[in-house]
Amino acid sequence: MTHAVQEAPPESVLDGLDAEQRAAASALTGPLCILAGAGTGKTRAITHRIAYGVRAGVYDPHRVLAVTFTARAAAEMRSRLTALGAPGVQARTFHAAALRQLQYFWPITVGGSLPQILDYKIKLLAEAGKRLRMTTDRAGLRDFASEIEWAKVSTLTPEGYLLHATDREAPAGADHQAFARLYQAYEDIKEDRHLMDFEDVLLFTVGMLESDERVAAQVRQQYRHFVVDEYQDVSPLQQRLLDLWLGGRDELCVVGDAAQTIYSFTGATPDYLLSFRRRFPEAEVVKLVRDYRSTPEVVKLANTLLADRRPGGAASWPAPLQLISQRRAGPSPELTEHPDDDAEASWVAEKVADATGTGTPLSEIAVLYRTNGQSQALEQALATAGISYQLRGSERFFSRPEVREGIAALRTSSLIADDSTESVPEAVRGVLSSLGWSSQSPSSAGAVRERWESLAALVGLAERLAEERPQLTLKLFLTELEERSAAQHAPTVEGVTLASLHSAKGLEWDAVFLVGLCEGLMPITFAQSQEELDEERRLLYVGITRAKTRLYLSSAAARHPGGRGRRKSSRFLIPLRRELGLEEPTRRIAPGNGKLSVNAAARKRKAAVCAGCGEVLTVGTQISRRRCAECPPRYDEDLFEHLRAWRRGYAQELETRAFMVFSDSTLEHLAEHKPLSDPELLKIPGIGERKLELHGERLKAAIRAFTDAG
Ligand code: ATP
Ligand code: MG
Repeated sequence: MTHAVQEAPPESVLDGLDAEQRAAASALTGPLCILAGAGTGKTRAITHRIAYGVRAGVYDPHRVLAVTFTARAAAEMRSRLTALGAPGVQARTFHAAALRQLQYFWPITVGGSLPQILDYKIKLLAEAGKRLRMTTDRAGLRDFASEIEWAKVSTLTPEGYLLHATDREAPAGADHQAFARLYQAYEDIKEDRHLMDFEDVLLFTVGMLESDERVAAQVRQQYRHFVVDEYQDVSPLQQRLLDLWLGGRDELCVVGDAAQTIYSFTGATPDYLLSFRRRFPEAEVVKLVRDYRSTPEVVKLANTLLADRRPGGAASWPAPLQLISQRRAGPSPELTEHPDDDAEASWVAEKVADATGTGTPLSEIAVLYRTNGQSQALEQALATAGISYQLRGSERFFSRPEVREGIAALRTSSLIADDSTESVPEAVRGVLSSLGWSSQSPSSAGAVRERWESLAALVGLAERLAEERPQLTLKLFLTELEERSAAQHAPTVEGVTLASLHSAKGLEWDAVFLVGLCEGLMPITFAQSQEELDEERRLLYVGITRAKTRLYLSSAAARHPGGRGRRKSSRFLIPLRRELGLEEPTRRIAPGNGKLSVNAAARKRKAAVCAGCGEVLTVGTQISRRRCAECPPRYDEDLFEHLRAWRRGYAQELETRAFMVFSDSTLEHLAEHKPLSDPELLKIPGIGERKLELHGERLKAAIRAFTDAG
């Protein structure tokens, strides 16, 4: 906390807010509900509200509990609160908050040690299946696991499931009876082994608070003010826990956007958000409509997507609020189709390289997809291009075997380490290099890369924490890792974020790629009912509204190179294409031929057209080259080859990948325009101030060498 922050009057916290946000942030007591669209500053408003309450002396920081959806969001909130002059407030996920209470009260109420947390249900489920002589494959086990998760967050025991859930389709082709038996067997084995799963953390806490008045009283004594972000996705189990924490009091502030409900499949429901006024008739309700995050171009697409929704469907999804962008005009979102997944991924990598060339940091770029399986092609393309990335929302970071091995090795080493001789990062690097970490990243995707990425993330975390806390010791670092592990908080490395749409909620980036927008993936094959299709639409809406400035929507006609292009572009793109002045593709795009029927409206709106023949382009690589596959290159092919050879040697010298220096399409533009001065170079796509500074002189020399020789 700086002195300036401490000395300024509490009201100064409200300075960065608009009138409605201020109204919300200064309503410090009583129930409050902020109901507003994406990017309108909901999270910002509640963070400022807490800070204001603390600084005005209305809240004791230790008596505030802020609950957010992800560990990352919680960490973000803690650091913002500190910056606003209100450190010490608890900001956690439901899960992490519950776990702390369990850890504290378990020895007193139950006695003995807390059961260990089980990361994976599959192994135990396989055992349970064997016990019951049920044969299932891995995919079946996964389905059982998610049904158990659903049952548990819906607070249904195996018997409860049979009584209340038989209208659901039983998972993996089993019948309800068989599933309930498997569920019970799983629970039994878990208990025998003194284990608890993710949902148990909440269930046990609820059980403890419900059955022990003293514990409940103590927890209520501790926390007086509650704030819940992303409240549209609260599950019945989380709501029950929240009610127990409140114990009939009403110091509760909830924040949400029903149009961003994307976790219905896990039992979450926006009903609690939408009926807040009914539960608390005296509640203040604040609505925000100004979108501070995204450009008007991005906001328009988001609005169009929601407006196109067919009437009917879930009654609990009210007419969406129209967002109004507060930002200046930006680039038009790009909508492209590619022959196959690999081509789409390479195009993404090329665009990412171009964006970094013009100064966008990798941490401001995200590639979002519907299913985790889609990350493979993207990982490969980014690795080939030498672009570092981090995966989010796939296998939980601390569940990965290499992370566990790494932590175990660090623990062993902490027992013998001498903190005075080596810094924590040095020690961590030393230990982890025996497990496959090195300062150079592997150039392949897949298991080796994943292992390296995980270990590198541990190293990065050690470096960051050591910087923040000069007193850090290896033992303290391990304690921190344990806490994060409990919260499933993966450390971030500087890199492009690869994430599922689900795990991107609440976050924002300058440039966002939404890939794989074809039928079967978006909407996903299993979304059939109107409700399910609505949820897919909201998921895409969440994706679009993550973008601050640049938005790229893309799809691929086939999964594999050479495969027949049979995938249909997503139905959700139809209104968006219209909005962007692009017509429906009138014929399938064959690999390497990105032409659509000529579309005059598109041209008027500056859709990408071939510089040779004026055809509208939709294949990514052709758009960046501004030339269809059939028009001859306009650049000097000899110069292009000369520059490629130069780039190879130069990249080797810099120990980087050729791609990271300049992309092929940048070389083509260079070979076309032969720029020899800085202003000319800056006009070339893919060359910004940063690249000019880094490589400008060498590049000019390379071009000059060629033109002089010619
Ligand atoms: P989501 O629904 O996606 O969770 P949100 O409503 O929580 O979005 P925030 O993340 O709080 O929105 O804000 C979006 C962006 O707009 C942030 O970068 C935030 O700093 C900025 N912002 C919000 N309000 C203001 C304001 N009054 N002035 C300037 N910037 C603002
Ligand atoms: Mg938010």
